Amino acid sequence: MTELETLICTGKLCPYCGKEPVLTDSACIYGKSYGMIYLCKPCDAYVGVHRNSTVALGRLANADLRKHKKLAHEKFDALWKIGGMSRSDAYSWLSKMLGTEPDFTHIGMFDKEKCLDTFFISEVKLELLLKNNTSDEKIRTIISDRRERIGLRGFTQRD
Ligand SMILES: [Zn+2]
Repeated sequence: MTELETLICTGKLCPYCGKEPVLTDSACIYGKSYGMIYLCKPCDAYVGVHRNSTVALGRLANADLRKHKKLAHEKFDALWKIGGMSRSDAYSWLSKMLGTEPDFTHIGMFDKEKCLDTFFISEVKLELLLKNNTSDEKIRTIISDRRERIGLRGFTQRD
């Protein structure tokens, strides 16, 4: 990691314009306060902070990156929740797969390319894990998860 990359991953510089973001209340984005954020207004890029601190959760994200972060999280969280891995095992596996330092292996710190990599490798890993454990209960969990994503209620077993 270069010094510049570290500053970007920790929310100290905007990755799009290179300027320093402003610490401000999230109400200016959401209309309601969800705590503080680092904001670069001209780039429409922001990131939240850890609770009761001014430490950013990761890199500032514009609308496109926010979308990719969400997708990466959906797949990666499904991997450890449905795939039967612990969260920390899943993160150290991800770190090895992406070749990123463990301290910088957080979706909130990733750029678009790393989010896409996370999405695809988590998807493949989950498929492989499930091939060895395709119990009906697992299948129900997966179907519920997919139905929820398209706005349908969870899958329930018919009596
Ligand atoms: Zn900017």
